[in-house]
Amino acid sequence: MRHVLTTCPYCGCGCGVYLREEEGRVTGAMPSRNHPVSRNNLCVKGWHLHEFIHHPARITEPLMRKGGALVPVSWDEALAFTAGELARIAKETAHRGIGLLSSAKCTNEENFLFQKLARAVLKTNNVDHCARL
Ligand code: SF4
Repeated sequence: MRHVLTTCPYCGCGCGVYLREEEGRVTGAMPSRNHPVSRNNLCVKGWHLHEFIHHPARITEPLMRKGGALVPVSWDEALAFTAGELARIAKETAHRGIGLLSSAKCTNEENFLFQKLARAVLKTNNVDHCARL
């Protein structure tokens, strides 16, 4: 068993958390006592943040709806379809029909690149984010 110091990805507070790893699996989360942001505290999301990692319902590959059912597809197929649909919608709506939703689990740098993709490439200011704490 070992404990790995990391940062909780669930919101912008950035609390310090130790993840407990046992035999290649993450089995627990606990606060970092000396972390300058959280000082031995985590909210309920932080205490449970390890639970999604190995959850059987976690989506780990692209899915596309075909014939009414979600089926696994390759990344190439998923990205080609998405790019084609974004181009079609942008053309049909003069870019007003496109909106992008990012994640608190991304880094600041990833979210910066995300909004650049939205504004510079897809020509939309419809950008939002799930972290509303
Ligand atoms: S979700 Fe909770 S534990 Fe995680 S960074 Fe935000 S306040 Fe801290």
